[in-house]
Amino acid sequence: MDLQVNKIPKVEMHLHIEGAIPRNTYIELRRKREPSYSLDQSPWHDDNYRFDSLDHFLNTASPSVTQTAEDYRRIATDLFQNLIDQNIIYTEITVASHRVPYYEIAQAIHNAWEETVPDARLTFGILVGLFRSDNPETAVEMVKQGIRASKFGVVGVDLLAHETIQPASVFKEAFNIAKEAGLGLRSHAGEGAGSESMWDAIRSLGVSRIAHGTRAVEDRDLIKYLIDNNITLDMCPTSNYKLRVVRTIEEHPIRQFFDSGVKVTVSSDDPLFFNSDITNELVRLHKFFNFKTVELLQLSQNAIDSAFLPQNKKNKFHQILVEKYNQLMQS
Ligand SMILES: [Zn+2]
Repeated sequence: MDLQVNKIPKVEMHLHIEGAIPRNTYIELRRKREPSYSLDQSPWHDDNYRFDSLDHFLNTASPSVTQTAEDYRRIATDLFQNLIDQNIIYTEITVASHRVPYYEIAQAIHNAWEETVPDARLTFGILVGLFRSDNPETAVEMVKQGIRASKFGVVGVDLLAHETIQPASVFKEAFNIAKEAGLGLRSHAGEGAGSESMWDAIRSLGVSRIAHGTRAVEDRDLIKYLIDNNITLDMCPTSNYKLRVVRTIEEHPIRQFFDSGVKVTVSSDDPLFFNSDITNELVRLHKFFNFKTVELLQLSQNAIDSAFLPQNKKNKFHQILVEKYNQLMQS
């Protein structure tokens, strides 16, 4: 199964670049600024480590190595190689920075992609991360920067961080501007708060995708609404386990949602901090929830269906997924 999972064509929709730095790259970049840095200083390098909570993660795991556009270029170069090695054909990457302007980050990622993936076997979109802790004016400014960087691959916006800081509705104007410019809309919700926070993101911001959405499990009406309105949940079981949103992996509702017709995708969220990647997520789905290979393919198809891409590109990716899957099945 592991071998097949590695070969299966994949799409990863919920990936934060600041949390997706390949480990060796992270150590190298950190030692450049902090020569004595050792792995012992970061307990999350240990596979058995779990954070106390989402707050604990947000407060302690913020990486200090993304300070310049050049850092982003270097990270994106190594990350793209890592994603290609996992047979990922399309990914949407969220960026989140107060230090480096989004226009510069997007340009750096785009340059890295042109250098690293000359045959475009992996394609990407960038989601502009908006911090819940920011005021609405700052969010509007970030969206405008993102719109200017569309030519470098910005395809959407993504509201981030702990849901209890401010309700999603505070960011209505920023999301309206993004929507008018043709960007896709996503919000993190149903992770640090319950279903009311997901309702808020859906009703006030008009998002078509929710990052996580795990706690929709508490609200039957919401589950029905997600199905009826084709709202996608970009789920990350290992992340939810590591941040104690669920007590055990087995308790994660991804199988229940998948079976009941909610459109779900699977991703690794912050693989650096959770010692995971999408290949590992798929292995876990098989091991703990008995997902069959064809169901893992369905997750990738869901991802393409809900991607912030024009229909002609979606059709192309669907074709690639099916071709690669058929090759795998015949080998
Ligand atoms: Zn996330």
